[in-house]
Amino acid sequence: MYRLLNVDGRAALEDEASWFDLADLSDDPTLADPMAAVARSAELHDLSERCASTEPGGPVAGARLGPPVPTPRQVFGIGLNYRAHAGESGMDLPPAPLTFTKFPSCIAGPHDEVPLSGALVDWEAELVAVIGTEVSAVPVDGAWEAVAGLMLGQDISDREVQLTGSPAQFCLGKSFAAYGPTGPALVSVDSFADPDDIGLWCEVADERMQESRSSLLIFTVPTLVAYLSSVTTLYPGDLIFTGTPSGVGMARGRYLAPGEVVVTGAEVIGELRNRCVPGRGPLAL
Ligand code: ZN
Repeated sequence: MYRLLNVDGRAALEDEASWFDLADLSDDPTLADPMAAVARSAELHDLSERCASTEPGGPVAGARLGPPVPTPRQVFGIGLNYRAHAGESGMDLPPAPLTFTKFPSCIAGPHDEVPLSGALVDWEAELVAVIGTEVSAVPVDGAWEAVAGLMLGQDISDREVQLTGSPAQFCLGKSFAAYGPTGPALVSVDSFADPDDIGLWCEVADERMQESRSSLLIFTVPTLVAYLSSVTTLYPGDLIFTGTPSGVGMARGRYLAPGEVVVTGAEVIGELRNRCVPGRGPLAL
């Protein structure tokens, strides 16, 4: 078991609410790079056991946490992957994972500010699966082994940009700067009693907006990994935003405003806290 953090740009492991610099723990300076750490996630189980006999770098509370996986090569998003969310969106259930891209430059940390690109910006609490091993055409029953762990993610979405034109193209409306807060930790799969049944929620300005469990995913994490890897090679550090449950703003006619704080939570993983600030919209054409 391990919890991988990004503390001030360096990979760290979390133990007992403290962080431990991974390069120091391992005596391997190359493991300071969070992307190197994800690519060697199999070693993190053993390294995590060294924390108990090592002086910590400091408490996790108050540390400057960045995204555990700051520069993924590929970031997949899955649309309409909870029945109740497809229902509130007035959409049919997809016959296969409805896949789009969040461009990797939108990935942000668990406490970063989110500059709003307009008046119709929405929240989407999601579990994010992080690939640990390069895989191609992995079978469903071997797919969890390709996953380094799970994080929380916010698939922040500018609905106006997302739904412009026909057919609509999701990628840009979900890729403004900081529209992909992630973290707070990358939590190994064996940390969960059942990795296919994790509670997650979202609060906006202290109001509970979303609450569900990943056991209600239409396409499970192993199915997503198997399906995506049947098309494209998956690489260590690739992210899969697995889809959001019901309760988004679009279905409520209520969107994010500057000053509001979005708290995204999940069992075992922890919480993201992201404050919305004024931002810049797309070029008017
Ligand atoms: Zn989403």
